[in-house]
Amino acid sequence: MSDYLTRLNPEQRAAVETVDGPLLVLAGAGTGKTRVLTTRFAHILMTRRAWPSQVLAVTFTNKAAKEMRERVSAILGQPAEGLWLGTFHALCARMLRRHAALAGLEHNFTILDTDDQMRLLKQIMVAENIDTKRWPPQALMSAIQRWKDKGLTPDRVTTAEDVDFANGRARDLYAQYQRRLKDVNAVDFGDLLMLVVEILRTNPDVLASYHRTFRYILVDEYQDTNTVQYLWLRLLAQRPAPEPQNICCVGDDDQSIYSWRGAEIENILRFERDFPGATVVRLESNYRSTRPILGAAAGLIAQNNGRMGKTLRPGRNDADGDKVRVVSLWDSEEEARMVGDRIEQGQRRGDRLSEMAILVRAGFQTRAFEERLITLGVPYRVVGGQKFYERAEIRDAMAYLRVLNQPADDLAFERIVNTPKRGLGETTIRAMHALARQEGKPLVVAAWRMIETGAIRAKPKAALHELLEGFARWREALPREGHVVVTATLLDESGYTDMWKQDKSPEAAGRLDNLKELIRAIGEFDTLAGFLEHVALVMENDENAEAERVSLMTLHAAKGLEFDTVFLPGWEEGLFPNQRALDEGGEKSLEEERRLAYVGITRARKHCIISHAANRQMYGTWSSAVPSRFLDELPEAHVEREGGAGAHRNRMASAPSAFSGQFPLVARKPRVIEAGSWEVAERPARTAAIPVGQRVFHQKFGYGRVVAAEDNKLDVEFEKAGRKRVIDTFVEKA
Ligand code: ATP
Ligand code: MG
Repeated sequence: MSDYLTRLNPEQRAAVETVDGPLLVLAGAGTGKTRVLTTRFAHILMTRRAWPSQVLAVTFTNKAAKEMRERVSAILGQPAEGLWLGTFHALCARMLRRHAALAGLEHNFTILDTDDQMRLLKQIMVAENIDTKRWPPQALMSAIQRWKDKGLTPDRVTTAEDVDFANGRARDLYAQYQRRLKDVNAVDFGDLLMLVVEILRTNPDVLASYHRTFRYILVDEYQDTNTVQYLWLRLLAQRPAPEPQNICCVGDDDQSIYSWRGAEIENILRFERDFPGATVVRLESNYRSTRPILGAAAGLIAQNNGRMGKTLRPGRNDADGDKVRVVSLWDSEEEARMVGDRIEQGQRRGDRLSEMAILVRAGFQTRAFEERLITLGVPYRVVGGQKFYERAEIRDAMAYLRVLNQPADDLAFERIVNTPKRGLGETTIRAMHALARQEGKPLVVAAWRMIETGAIRAKPKAALHELLEGFARWREALPREGHVVVTATLLDESGYTDMWKQDKSPEAAGRLDNLKELIRAIGEFDTLAGFLEHVALVMENDENAEAERVSLMTLHAAKGLEFDTVFLPGWEEGLFPNQRALDEGGEKSLEEERRLAYVGITRARKHCIISHAANRQMYGTWSSAVPSRFLDELPEAHVEREGGAGAHRNRMASAPSAFSGQFPLVARKPRVIEAGSWEVAERPARTAAIPVGQRVFHQKFGYGRVVAAEDNKLDVEFEKAGRKRVIDTFVEKA
């Protein structure tokens, strides 16, 4: 038997060797679905059933595509070239360039980003005299995206699929939008798939040529395909008889986490309908995780209804391991400290940083961990997203603060002078630059000069004047109101907050959350200048290109990946399960949130550390955070709870008192400062919980007496273990 086949179990081998005919691999996390797909790819090539260019392989991310290319190359013993291997978008872009003319485009068409799309749509609406206040273009944009996810070109949108917009004009506007795109030789992301599907539907010769080309089709993460992606796959796979329909999809219904982007779990059922006689293979041995990790994940996902049902048993020889840790902490800062400490402990044991990941539910959560890792000097990367201080909205807000702090900061001023749009045209800005250069003065001075001399049209002049006066006012308020309040006020009064509130794109809410997080971060510093310096240092720190780094990412981005150690922070009601998701989708979303939790836990090979904080600043106020219901759903047998033990079990009791046994009670409603649309709260002071001299108990070190206390760190003289420095939440008064 070939070497690569011996590395598979019998079921996996069957899935690899059943090369002809449709095949569906339906199996739980870590059972080797991706390994099967990769090996199958190599097997097809090794047995000379097809050339590399005759296999079409779809992955969910570019990173996964790269990994698959490497794995196939390793099995082949040479670089795999000329592959049709990539994400749906990448593969469709390549096809669309080949057949651009059939879609009325030139082959060098541009792919628009969301900003450009929006601008185009607005232009059309304005030209059609549609009141964009009453009918927000964003709503139309999301309708168009939904249609595109279903493969509906304007003429295919039926009355049933129509939306209530601008008195029944939606379909017509969609048609105009598509025409405009063609005029400017551009497509949006949704077009990549939809236009290719349309080409394949209406050009039998093109479809036939692909039928000849693609002898084998391989699809990873099948549970998250949407309708148009499914249609594309079906068109390509349904080769006319007597050719076999060699399509192999692997997936896990329990890991379907993209329904908010139009993914249709029903595609799994459709597969068996559309490809009659499909072989269905189930894999049941998990080779990734230890028994407790699997047990915890299985217990959690068992709470979902309507599952296809799968068995998952540990397949590793060394499946015994640590229980899943659930750690209760005081607040997010302490949570970040706990994670940082454990990462350092791991490093000391010789664990690799690239084998550790912090997986969060919402993007704003990375900030606290990034800061902690920077303080500790631990290199990290943010996967599938930007580092907190590099995000556009944070850079904008920082630019405002830099100008506030230092009016002559031209780079910052330039960034925000027309963000949000203040009607300052390029001519005005160029004139401002010229004047500044000529006089050797900063841009702000030139701007004042232009207002005074009237070298600027009335409307932009008023807007510019308002901005400059704003800065004067905010600067003047700074000593009186404090930098936190002024930041909040500034973001509102400059129109910046509103810019994102008006924005109805899916990212806008996350951006507002990031701005809130920024205001919280500023609160941790005594002065604005101190904060700005901190951020400048944080940003600079980044330039080492070390390979060994901790990975930070959202749970959504972690699909298909694995790490020895996985941290899952922020398991609190509202944050995870996420309130916004629940508000939008009710019970169905709760199940999707639970699947997301399942994806998170099953990324871990050896250690899984879940945490929640007892206090979190959410929606502007400090409040006691209720531990996530998912914590209750983890089977006790596989879990070990640390710090504030028992807190989670009292979840149903009224929240504040639930913690009183473990955490010293603080004023639940700290002083809240209202500043415009932002509520800014002072962090609840932690009362000196454990005084020097107190006898304490520590899970690991046993009994001892506190000899010194500093912040949250205690020096304890333990009776057996000797003197140790410990974090106070880890000890109980004895
Ligand atoms: P996910 O659902 O999370 O995408 P998956 O089903 O795709 O998981 P893989 O990533 O392919 O699972 O495999 C999980 C881990 O188990 C990988 O490290 C893989 O190399 C290993 N593995 C898979 N099959 C075997 C096997 N037969 N023997 C040993 N290790 C295996
Ligand atoms: Mg996989």
